[in-house]
Amino acid sequence: MAPSDTTVQIRRAPALSRPEIHSLNAGFETAHPSRIIRWAVNTFGSNLALATSFSDTLLVDLALQVDPDIEVVFLDTGFHFAETLDVLRRAQVRYEMNLRVERPDPATADLWASGTDACCAARKVAPLDQALSGKTAWLSGMRRADSATRTETPIVSIDRRGLTKVNPIAAWPTHDVESYMEAREIIVNPLGDDGYDSIGCWPCTERAAVGCETRSGRWAGTARTECGIHL
Ligand code: SF4
Repeated sequence: MAPSDTTVQIRRAPALSRPEIHSLNAGFETAHPSRIIRWAVNTFGSNLALATSFSDTLLVDLALQVDPDIEVVFLDTGFHFAETLDVLRRAQVRYEMNLRVERPDPATADLWASGTDACCAARKVAPLDQALSGKTAWLSGMRRADSATRTETPIVSIDRRGLTKVNPIAAWPTHDVESYMEAREIIVNPLGDDGYDSIGCWPCTERAAVGCETRSGRWAGTARTECGIHL
C-alpha cells in the first residue's frame, strides 16, 4: 500500500490569519509555556489535543495543570521500547489523564520491511491524523534545541492539516526546562541515561554518537530526520 493511501486527509481553513500567528509568536517568544498553553486552552477548548511520545512527561505535566481534561494522544506504533511504555504506565499512575491511545491499522504490521516512509506513514502519520480528525488545534513538545533541523520551530503555526499547532516549549531555555523537571520530578525515560538522547521506535533508534546532536540516533545512517507527524 502506498504511503498516501494510509493517510487520513484533513484540511480545514486555518482558524488564525498569518498576521495573527506572527503577532502571537512575537508575544510568546519569551513567555512561560503555561501561559502559551492557557492561551491555547482558552482559544480552542475541547477542540485542542496534546500529542506526546512519552519520552518524558514534561508537556503533560505543564498542560494538565492548565486543563486536567485535555485529551492526551499517544501513538502506539507497536515498536516502542519497554522503557517508553513504562513511562506511560507511570504517567497513568501519577496523572488522571484523558488518554487516547491510537494504534495503526493491523494490516500495516509488516510495513517496516517495506521502508521507513511507508512504516512511519502507517504507524505514526495516519494514526495522528485520525486522532486529530475532530480537533482544530494540538500541542506538541518540539523544541528548537532538539536538533539542527528544529532550530526554527515556531511556537504557533498552521500544519498541513489546516490545524493550529502549538509548541509551548519550543523556545523554553534548557536551564529552565531542567529546573522545572527537577522541581516537578518529571518522569523520564531511563534510556536517556543510557545514551539515547531522543527515543522513538526501537528498530529506528540508536544511542546518539558522542559529540553528535541529540537526534542523531534516530534513523541513523539514513537521510531521514523526522517521521512526518510534524509537517
Ligand atoms: Fe516504523 Fe521506524 Fe517509523 Fe517507528 S520510527 S513507525 S518503526 S519506520
